[in-house]
Order: sequence, then structure tokens, then C-alpha cells
Amino acid sequence: MNLNASVNSIIKERKEEFYQSKYEYYEKMVFYLILTSSIASFFYWGTDCMLYGRIAWETLLPRASIFVFLAIYIVIVRKSNNYKLCIPAAYIMAHLVVFCTSWAVLHLENRTHANEGLMVIECIFIFLGFAAPKHYSILFHLWMLIDIIIADLFIHYSDFLTIIALHFILIIGTEILIAYIEKVFQDRFVSNIRLNHVLLHDPLTGAYNRNIFKTICYPGTNMINIKNAGLLILDIDFFKKVNDTYGHDVGDVILQRLSKSVEGTIRSDDYLVRFGGEEFVVILSNVSKEILEDTAIRIKSAIQTELSDYSITVSIGGCMYDEVSDYSNSIKIADEQLYYVKQNGRNGIKVV
Ligand code: GH3
Ligand code: MG
Ligand code: MG
Repeated sequence: MNLNASVNSIIKERKEEFYQSKYEYYEKMVFYLILTSSIASFFYWGTDCMLYGRIAWETLLPRASIFVFLAIYIVIVRKSNNYKLCIPAAYIMAHLVVFCTSWAVLHLENRTHANEGLMVIECIFIFLGFAAPKHYSILFHLWMLIDIIIADLFIHYSDFLTIIALHFILIIGTEILIAYIEKVFQDRFVSNIRLNHVLLHDPLTGAYNRNIFKTICYPGTNMINIKNAGLLILDIDFFKKVNDTYGHDVGDVILQRLSKSVEGTIRSDDYLVRFGGEEFVVILSNVSKEILEDTAIRIKSAIQTELSDYSITVSIGGCMYDEVSDYSNSIKIADEQLYYVKQNGRNGIKVV
């Protein structure tokens, strides 16, 4: 990952991830917003009763019908947290609140408070915009004008044009605010990516550092959550001599070139970890002992080809990940194999 890339280009590359994380950040707020506004829209039945001066049976069904849609909405958000489904579902709920309210208003003789109700609904649109992609927010908010136009066909608002003009201005204002909030969230998202990258990577080689173990372990344990994993530990032979002969700067470049060549050999879902100085751990998923051994051979030959100008050789020890004990125990077993190779002339491989 290019840490210096601009915020815009990082967002462009990770658009889906960005919108999903934005939704997940506000997920609870969206849920409670829909829940409370649905319940509140039902309780406006109380004001209907006050307007009638009796139990307003006429508006009970329109007001209560929001609960049917609310139940469907709850099922949807319980089954999925995908923003592409949950955000439109939340907006549709907001429109259904408008629909049920307009249906109730249709029965009322005194409609002077309809505009106040619509203003409350505008607040829902402001808060939903926090969680939604900007373009969803614009689209679903403009739809509010269509709601009002359709409602007017039945209700005949006395101040229809004023209502439309007011809401149009509110929509523009809200969408400017939402665009600004999205920009703030973009900065936060990209800062998190950059921080995470720094936290998990070795600055010299770009390989992972030891912190990666915490992220690939089951929470609260040291057990790696990778299926059929194999571990290799590789160590450059006589690297001290390489440093002494060519200098530390060249030593650093050798470490960088070695990392690149190993990364070019393993799959994208495998992990190359700089474990210490000139020692690297490779974690491979879905391997058998034979594949692990083959991979060790390929890695060794790739490194020696890449660094042939310095006659670099490496020693590799490896083992299949023992899923019963924790990862540090497997590293210890792989390290014992590496020690064996070092004791027996270096420049070799031992995998158990
Ligand atoms: P062996 O074959 O037994 O592994 O011998 P060795 O010389 O490779 O091992 P030793 O542990 O004696 O020395 C490791 C060397 O790695 C010493 C240290 O200077 C060098 N080293 C560790 N980290 C870095 C680094 O970041 N850059 C450079 N250039 N050298 C490093
Ligand atoms: Mg060494
Ligand atoms: Mg070493």
C-alpha cells in the first residue's frame, strides 16, 4: 500500500470498504433512529385524538401500519449489515413514515400541523445522511419532494408551494452538510488505514512485523485462525559477514530485496513476517507438509537467484502449524529445525 497516496485516491480504491465502514460506524444510530421515529409516528395518534376530542379510530390503522414495515426492516437488518441493503431499507422506512403519516392526515379535518410533521421527518434525513453514501443521501432525500407531491394529490395542502420550496432549500442545505461530514469521515478512514499499516509492517522491508500475529489469532488466544497452516522460519547465513564486507546500507538493501523475492513467491493471502534482524517467518494457509517443503525450496531458490550478486544463502526450518497448542509453540518447533540446518552446514531446508 502506498501510504503517501492522496485521501481521494485511497478512497477511490477502497470505495466499498469505506462506505461499509461508514455504515457500520453509525449502524446502531440508524437502527434506533428508525425504531424511535416509527414508534413516534404511531404516537402521533395521540395528537389525532386530541384534534378530534375523542378516540380517533379513523387514523389508528394508518398510524399502526408502520409497525408492519418496521418488523420487515428489523428482519432485514438482523440478517445483513451490508450498507447496500440496510441504507436503502432505512431510507424506505423514513418514506414509509411519511406515507403512513400522510395517510393519517388524509383522515384529519384539521391539517394545519402537517408541515410541522414533515419538518420532524427532515431531521431523520439529516441523521440518515451521516451513515449513507453521499449519492444515496441525495437520491433518497429528493424523493421526499415526490412524497409531498403525491400526498398533495390527496390531501391538497393549502400552502403546497411554500412546503415544496421550504423542503427544497432544506434538502440542499442538508446535502451540503452531509457532503462535508462524508469528507471528515474519509479523513478518519484513511488515517486509520495508515496507522494500521504502520502498526503491522516493518518500515525497512515492508513485510509484516510481529504485531500481525495478534490480528490473525482468535480473539483472546494465541491460536492462529488460519486453516491448515504451515510455518517456515528463514535466516540469512553469515549475514554479519555480509554487513562487515559490504556495509550496513547494502545489508539493508539485501533485506529489502529478499523480502520482495519471498513476497513474489508466496500467495497473496500468505504472510511474510520480519521476525527479527535477518530472520523471517512465512505463514502459509491451506498447505500439506509436502507443499510446505516445496514452497521452502522455491523460496530458497528465489532468494538465491535474486541475491546471486552477493552469493547469499539462507537456511530454512519449518513445520505444520499445530492447531492444539499456540502459534509460538509452532514457531519454536520450526526454529529447532532451523537450528539443525545451521548446525549441519547451513544453506539447507528441514521441514517436519
Ligand atoms: P548465522 O548464519 O548463524 O545466522 O550467522 P549470522 O551472521 O547471519 O547471524 P548473527 O545473529 O550472528 O548476525 C545477524 C546479523 O544481522 C547481525 C546484524 O548486524 C544483522 N542485522 C540485523 N538486523 C539488521 C538490519 O536491519 N540491517 C542490517 N544491515 N543488518 C542487520
Ligand atoms: Mg543469520
Ligand atoms: Mg539470526
